[in-house]
Amino acid sequence: MQTHTEQSILEALKAIPDPEIPVISIVDLGVIRKITLLPTGVEVAITPTYSGCPAMKQMEDDIVSTLKKMGIENIHIKMVYTPAWTTDWLSDDAKERLRKYGIAPPQESTSDKSFITGKHKQIKCPRCGSLHTELVSQFGSTACKALYKCKDCFEPFDYFKCI
Ligand SMILES: [Zn+2]
Repeated sequence: MQTHTEQSILEALKAIPDPEIPVISIVDLGVIRKITLLPTGVEVAITPTYSGCPAMKQMEDDIVSTLKKMGIENIHIKMVYTPAWTTDWLSDDAKERLRKYGIAPPQESTSDKSFITGKHKQIKCPRCGSLHTELVSQFGSTACKALYKCKDCFEPFDYFKCI
């Protein structure tokens, strides 16, 4: 029955938007680790973006329904926790789309633990580009984002937390 390839499956998964950020796909997000064709189905290894991120269940459901539509019946989702997902896995293209969507993309690599140490870097406003911004809340519209406010254009915006 194997008429699919890892590549064709990956292409199909690219059509699945991130449940929280519809402008980027789950492939852009970097959560798809590996696609393995099995004699009787497909195994998709995914790495959760954020522990306790409620979007992960949605992503799993979306992967299963997408592959079922391709005629694949036996779908196994395997959670891979190491190495842990980091915002470094976001493609540059995805970061640019995040910015256009009004979410400040992650600006530091995961080696920077400013959110843990309590020191915050200046985050650029995705609307006007001002660095004159302030943290309003560690938790924005979802647990994966922080809420910032721009002091120049007065717009609140979400910042994709670096983890
Ligand atoms: Zn602004």
